[in-house]
Amino acid sequence: MQPVPTIKSRPVYPAIHVDPSVAYHLFIAGTGAFPSLSELYNACDGERSCWVIGESLQHISYKYPKGCHFIDESAMQETFSKLFATLPISTNLYLASKQESMLWDIHRLAVNAGLGQEQIKKLEPLSNERRLFCTHCYTLTDGVTYTPYECPGCKRLLLVRDHFSKLHSAYVGVQINAEDPSDIPEREELI
Ligand SMILES: [Zn+2]
Repeated sequence: MQPVPTIKSRPVYPAIHVDPSVAYHLFIAGTGAFPSLSELYNACDGERSCWVIGESLQHISYKYPKGCHFIDESAMQETFSKLFATLPISTNLYLASKQESMLWDIHRLAVNAGLGQEQIKKLEPLSNERRLFCTHCYTLTDGVTYTPYECPGCKRLLLVRDHFSKLHSAYVGVQINAEDPSDIPEREELI
């Protein structure tokens, strides 16, 4: 079965399960997102490992599984590119994050390392934060929660569309008031 979403729509996140026929299970969570994976992690009695991104160790009150690896967000690309290249062929990835963009950044690293789409299981993002791609000046902005949004690059007021670009892990933004820049539409929370 091919995943439906392409460049032109929002990704969908079907429910995910641990597949006991798979040899190796790799769990990766962004800041604060591991608890939503913990049920799956506990249900998995195969070989497994667990990685947490961007959690400040001094402030952790949550009890992570023993042997859990912690990395900074800035080390994500390097660490995971190397790690993914060494995984057994029969591996599933389980991803959770507040930011949808992080899920797809990791997804892209995994695909580049040779994993198939069907091996990459993503929980629905835990927040409505989107990465926005400005189609006018190509600026990427993280943490966007409402529309329209002023592009920090070109200052145009962008309509945040539901069209998702996997290449940028971002939603596409187009100027909403090109004809009359003094026309400022009301702000709406993204869902
Ligand atoms: Zn822009």
